[in-house]
Order: sequence, then C-alpha cells, then structure tokens
Amino acid sequence: MTDEAPATTTKSMDDIMSLCKRRGFVYPASEIYGGINGFWDYGPLGAQLKKNLRDAWWTDVVMRGCNGKLGPDGKPVEIVPVDTCIIQNPKVWEASGHVAGFNDPMVDDKETKQRFRADHLFGMYLVRPEEGESVDQGVARLIKIINEQPFELPYGPNLSCVASNEEEAFGAFRAAMHRIKQDITRVPDAAVATSFTAETRKGEECFGVCYQVPMSFMKAHPTWIPSPFNKPDKAAALELDNRKSDSQLTEPRAFNLMFKTYIGATATEDDVAYLRPETAQGIFVNFKNVVDTTRVGVPFGIAQTGKSFRNEVTPRNFTFRSREFEQMEIEFFCHPDDAKDWYVFWRDWRMEWWQGLGLKGENLILREHDSDELAHYAKEGAGTSDIEYRFPFTAPGFGELEGIAHRTDFDLKQHEEHARAKLKYFDSTRGELAKNGQPKGEHYLPHVIEPSGGLDRGVLAILCEAYTVDESRPSPEFMKFHPRVAPIKAAVFPLVKKDGMPEKAQELHSELRQKFGHLGAIEYDEKQSIGKRYARMDEAGTPYCFTIDGDSLTDGTVTVRDRDTGEQQRMPMAGVAAFLGEKLGV
Ligand code: ATP
Repeated sequence: MTDEAPATTTKSMDDIMSLCKRRGFVYPASEIYGGINGFWDYGPLGAQLKKNLRDAWWTDVVMRGCNGKLGPDGKPVEIVPVDTCIIQNPKVWEASGHVAGFNDPMVDDKETKQRFRADHLFGMYLVRPEEGESVDQGVARLIKIINEQPFELPYGPNLSCVASNEEEAFGAFRAAMHRIKQDITRVPDAAVATSFTAETRKGEECFGVCYQVPMSFMKAHPTWIPSPFNKPDKAAALELDNRKSDSQLTEPRAFNLMFKTYIGATATEDDVAYLRPETAQGIFVNFKNVVDTTRVGVPFGIAQTGKSFRNEVTPRNFTFRSREFEQMEIEFFCHPDDAKDWYVFWRDWRMEWWQGLGLKGENLILREHDSDELAHYAKEGAGTSDIEYRFPFTAPGFGELEGIAHRTDFDLKQHEEHARAKLKYFDSTRGELAKNGQPKGEHYLPHVIEPSGGLDRGVLAILCEAYTVDESRPSPEFMKFHPRVAPIKAAVFPLVKKDGMPEKAQELHSELRQKFGHLGAIEYDEKQSIGKRYARMDEAGTPYCFTIDGDSLTDGTVTVRDRDTGEQQRMPMAGVAAFLGEKLGV
C-alpha cells in the first residue's frame, strides 16, 4: 500500500495474546483440560479492565444519559436499565426470528475436513503483466481471461487497490470484503471483486483480481472450487492454470447458532429452551412493563449488559468471535417520524464515546451500511452503521465493535403477534388537537434505534490500542490504557524494604485504596528492584506509580512516575490523593 501503515498494523496479535496470558488479562477457558474452543476466561487484570469498560458504558449511557448531551428534541436523553434472564420462553426466539433464521451457511472441505462460512469464500486470480501493460490494462485482460472460462465466473465492480505483495493484496481484499460484508442470503449474483498488483512468492510482479463467491454461483456450480479458497488469514496466491478442478467442498448447509438446552428433569423435545443470542429481546418483551411501572415516556431507552451465546461455527481471532460473550445494548424507543434524527444522534454519539476511551484516529471508523447489506427489519429504516476497529488480525481492514441499527417496529410487532399482547404506546403529547386545545393523543408502536456493542470486542480493541512496543524502556512492551479503563489505577512502592519506607508506603497505599478502590486496583509492591517494579506496572498499564524514598521520611514528599513518559517528579505525599483524583477525573 502506498499509505503509511497505521500503528496497529505493525502490532502482532501473537505478542498481544502472550502478554494477555502472561500478565493475567485473558486465559483460555478450562485450560488445564486443554481448553474449549470459542471460550475465554478473564484473569485479575482482564476482569477489572472489562468491569471498567462496562461501568464506563453504564455510567455514561444510563446514569448520565449520554453524558448530558441533549437529544435531537432538545431534551435530556432518558434511559433506564433492566437485567433480564439468559433463558426466556422459547417463543421469544420464535417471534424474534432467531429459531428459524439465525443461521450461517457453511461448507466443509472434504479433504481437510475444515469448515468455512460459505460467504467467506473467495477466489483470487493472478496474471503476469505483459510488456508495457498498465495495471488497468492488465486487470482488464485478466477479467477477459476469467470471462472466457467455460463457466460464468462471478465478479463485479472493481474496487481498485494496489498492493506490493500477496499479503497486502489479501489484506486489502479482506478490507474490501469487510466493507461490503454481505450476508450470503442477500448476495447479488454479481459478487464484488477487487483488483490489485501483487508479487507472487517467486517475486514476479502480477496483476490480480479477488472476488467473493456468491451462494447462487456455488449452488449452480457444485464442482467448482475457488482457487485458492477461504485463505483469508494465510495468503496463498495461485496462478490461473494452477486452479484445482474438482470440488473439495460440500454443498452449503445452514447451522443454527442458538445454544439449545432443556428445562426440567425429563429433557424431552418439549422442554427445549435456548441461551439468548442477544440481550435485546429481554428488553423488547419488557417494554410494556417498563412503560407501566416507571415514569418514562417515548422517546426513551432501555439498556442492558449481559452474556449472550452463539454457537459460532468458526470461533476465531482470540475473543473477537467467541461462543460466550457479553453485550452492551440499548433499545431506544421513539415515534416513527423521529427515527431518522435519533438514528443520527446515536450513531454519532456512540462513535464519540469510543473515541473518548482512547480508540482514536485511523483505527476507528464509522461505516454506514449499503442498502443491500441491511438486515430484514432494517430495509425500510433510517440506516444501519457499524463502528469498526482496525484489529491486528483484520488490518488493513476493520472488525465490528458496535452496530447501530434502526430496527423499525419489527420486534414489538412480532411480539404483539406471537404473544397476542397489546404493546402499542399511548402518546398523550401527539394527535389532533381537541376543542380544549390539547392533543387527543396517538396510539402507535414505537420505532427502535439499537446501539448494540460488544463488551469483549471493546476490551480487545482497548488491549490492541494500548499495546505499545518501545525497546528503549525497561519493559519493551507496555500498555497505554486510558486512565479511566486501566485495571490498576496506581501503585505505591517503598524504594527499599527498610528504614521505615514500607510502613510509610503502606500508609499511602491504604489511603489511596480507600479513596479510589471503587475505580480499580491500587497496588502495593516491595519485591525486586524499583526498575523491575516500574516495568511490571508498565505492562499492566498502570498510569501512575508513587515511590517512597529516603527524602520522603524527612520532607514528606514522594516521587510520581508517569507511565507514558517515564518521567518522575516530586510532590508532597499529602497531595497525592488530590493529584490522582484529578488524573482519574473524579
Ligand atoms: P458479526 O457480523 O461480527 O458476527 P453481528 O453483526 O452478528 O457480528 P450483532 O448481532 O450486531 O453482531 O451483535 C452486536 C455486537 O455483539 C457486535 O457488534 C459485537 O461487538 C458483539 N458480538 C457479536 N457476536 C460476537 C461474538 N461471537 N463474539 C464476541 N462478540 C460478538
């Protein structure tokens, strides 16, 4: 690529994962039994980091009503929380469409037995440039060659990109695919292609075309195999004539992502229930309860955080695609006429919120969906967008952190029909005016704007963003967490373990712990050299370390070391709590 690579693309996911394991952020679940695919446990630092992110969301969204930002109606944003069950009446999931439609189309490679999402399959062809040929000419020639194949090969408008090697070409292709992110059931017959120049492994320059394989094509050509197929993580460019001709792939089959369980001892098919695949439905089924038992009125939101479960067919990329994960969801109910304004409000504010936690610059983007990508309920809506982060494993592409969707009145309507419940809202502020000049009121099903974020993906983005390598430091790897989410807020050290320094340090530690313990850990450490202790705290991402030395005992001052600059300054011990409070924004 010609553009300078952003910082995170140079970060290695393996290094980040190994630091996470070594320092107790994230462990494989059931590790002593060999782990379990798609499940992760958080260690002491990870659990606190995750809690801090969840608390930041809860405080800013629910308790502070979008931090006081006024809604498009010029009024404070009203949000109330709920905490609903993971297991609901299975009819909830029939109404929501999850039992019937929550499927991923999958194909198996008969040879390797690997399973792939059919909509992740892609093909790539390369040709060597002819003398004097420009990229455009080369790509045009390649497309012509492809067109002359004895089958109709799917490709669509070129998304031009120039890559200097195979890896970049695949990366760019992934980015393009991600931008398009087509659900296979909605893929049009002409799939999207990207063209690029690349080098083969032998170092030969070539022109290439990548394209996604639409399901209709797969079905029509069961013996065709894209070449190479589904190797988004490992580039393996083959030339046109190396294409395998016999299909190794099975027909696409649907896999339901719902985790099934049984209620009661008999465990017959009549007792089937499901672990929720999203927290949203617990909110919809309680819409009426909340309206009837509180003073909220449309427009208002209901928020909830909690675990969701999806039997992902190919869990991957650390915690990014797990089978058990936590969501932070808001269902914001408004009058249908106001949906567009609220959609824009939420989309922009959610982006600002993530930026406020340190996910900034080129690594965070807001991506508005194209109309052919929209979920069934959002087709007629005001819009759908994703807030996406450039993870090391998606770079130069992006992975979804949070989706903001106008769900229309789809869910409430479904529950009205399936539960035969009356969910219409009576709005006394609307409708024609009566003789007394007051509105007569209006009954309607509110529309919903849903900002739905992933807590685990948020934590992962924060870990990736914070991970910094600087060989000149005592700890070449350190975590530059925003102080608000840092799991350890401060550490207190005695310079040496004698002369009354430990006692003084413990005194300060105890004071800070009582004052700031609700925000995160305050650590005390007297083991090893002071340099090693600083290095340890840098790896944990602790923003400030306070050290008690010989002078502290005589003049009552301490040193404070800043994690990011490594600089130290002296300050009165009595002023430490105020200093830290200011830095932590409390
Ligand atoms: P994807 O396309 O990546 O599967 P999605 O569009 O199905 O995600 P939503 O149903 O919109 O995701 O869920 C809302 C949020 O929940 C996502 O933005 C993401 O942060 C999180 N999420 C969804 N699936 C997973 C998963 N398997 N593991 C971790 N987080 C997830």
